[in-house]
Amino acid sequence: MENEKNLNVEGEEKEVVSRNFIEQIIEKDLEEGVHETVHTRFPPEPNGYLHIGHAKSILLNYGLAEKYNGLFNMRFDDTNPTKEKVEFVNSQLEDIKWLGAKWDDRLFFASDYFGEMYECAVKLIKKGKAYVSDLTAEEIREYRGTLTEPGKEDPYATRSIEENLTLFENMKNGLYQDGEKVLRARIDMASPNMNMRDPVIYRVAHMTHHRTGDTWCIYPMYDFAHPIEDAIEGITHSICTLEFEDHRPLYDWVVKELEYPHPPKQIEFAKLYLKNVVTGKRYIKKLVEDGIVDGWDDPRLVSVAALRRRGYTPESIKRFVELCGVSKAQSVADMAMLEYCIREDLKLKRPRMMAILDPVKLIIDNYEEGKIEMLEAANNLENEELGTREIPFGRELYIEREDFMEEPPKKYFRLFPGNEVRLMNAYFVTCTGCVKDENGKVIEVHCTYDPETKSGSGFNARKVKGTIHWVNASTAIQAEVRLFENIVDEEKGVYNKEDGSINVNPDSRTILTDCYMEPALGDAKAYESFQFVRNGFFCVDYKDSKPGAPVFNRIVSLKSSFTLPK
Ligand code: ATP
Ligand code: MG
Repeated sequence: MENEKNLNVEGEEKEVVSRNFIEQIIEKDLEEGVHETVHTRFPPEPNGYLHIGHAKSILLNYGLAEKYNGLFNMRFDDTNPTKEKVEFVNSQLEDIKWLGAKWDDRLFFASDYFGEMYECAVKLIKKGKAYVSDLTAEEIREYRGTLTEPGKEDPYATRSIEENLTLFENMKNGLYQDGEKVLRARIDMASPNMNMRDPVIYRVAHMTHHRTGDTWCIYPMYDFAHPIEDAIEGITHSICTLEFEDHRPLYDWVVKELEYPHPPKQIEFAKLYLKNVVTGKRYIKKLVEDGIVDGWDDPRLVSVAALRRRGYTPESIKRFVELCGVSKAQSVADMAMLEYCIREDLKLKRPRMMAILDPVKLIIDNYEEGKIEMLEAANNLENEELGTREIPFGRELYIEREDFMEEPPKKYFRLFPGNEVRLMNAYFVTCTGCVKDENGKVIEVHCTYDPETKSGSGFNARKVKGTIHWVNASTAIQAEVRLFENIVDEEKGVYNKEDGSINVNPDSRTILTDCYMEPALGDAKAYESFQFVRNGFFCVDYKDSKPGAPVFNRIVSLKSSFTLPK
């Protein structure tokens, strides 16, 4: 994936392209003519919202199809009606589209193949490779044996083909209760691989499916359905995560016994794990159901919808996934790397504005009362292309409370009585003192300004050490800002060792309602993001913002000790 420039003996630059192990397999298959093209798919189960781990899988599958001029299918693996919902189908499609994967007219549902899957099962029965069993789930487990002991033959394994065909048809026609009968593949009860000990491939389940309604009362098991779905669609490389490695012999058995001419190949890679982050659908679901977060897209989560709401961009997620790489070895990525990626992405793209999150008034006693002057400010110091804007300046401003100290420590260069600082994009001011309320809390800071020192005027007779940001009080908009920390208590780790619950950080969200901002921010649109001087990158919350009254989520602060891994 990464292209590195290397110098060869003659000192010329030559490009050394290193490929990940999946790309190596694909290129070998293309070279040897095992497959003529590359055809991948992303097969989520519509039982929750997609998360950052799925994003990795989507971008990997889509990226490979793009790289090798192949095709990419979007397919819902909706073979288990208990947990699946249309709400999740729609949210997943939206997330995948947002991440940049395109499937054109190749949107499929495994449930559309139920008829074909049934025929596949009949084919296996006719070949003597599947039988109907009356054992209960518990008996099947007992008969299965253990890792050290072989399993026992199912007493129903000797049923005739005719009997099996009739019983299976009866299963389909609703003659049996849930669990009364199953269809098992006849493979090898003594196989060292437990998945090969006559696995169940069809079960009776009287459930309504979100797409096929009550047409079916038998449903195929994942290990049987998945290879058929891949084979029907002409998938060449069926990429999944490591937990399916032990299922690969069964995958291969299914496509072989069903005699598909160009069987797909299953390739496993290691899941993306983030340190101290809740990723699994079922854990996120628990946080949502317990009301610990505000929903699947709460900005503290790492579902794709939550990352989007928080202000992450598809580009930043793509970069992150690339930096994580693709491998068979399990590793743990750091949230700081994801944060690095969004900072890098927004740094040059988004304007830098002034917003005060913890306000105190600064009054310029020698500035004309009621006067407003417009001052020019660069939108992004590192990218001139973003141009300039005008910001109002007047006698009363808001500054950050921490930018004034009555009795400053050494090396404090901001406002304290007698000290002069620069007001960003404006004038030099000298602090003259402050006013406190009856509790001793500072409610106003006072200063005087020097009209000669206007920013951009070329004034250089004096230098000051501190620059502080500000917002003119009479024209400011008041807005809500939300700051986030990890939802997980990092000291304890994600899971409580005793009961498996999540160790929740009770202070993961801080809501600031008394923030003041440049008036231009009043028009900010949902999902628009900005750098706020010194405070970080922020994004307009799409759910809770109102026209003229935006709510900002902090995406990330400005600084980090994170450095890119070599
Ligand atoms: P979870 O339980 O974490 O929600 P899942 O594996 O049950 O995940 P599916 O909808 O079955 O979710 O997964 C769709 C695809 O996404 C599968 O191919 C799966 O291997 C892949 N996937 C799921 N989690 C990760 C992850 N953390 N990293 C990379 N790929 C993942
Ligand atoms: Mg799952």
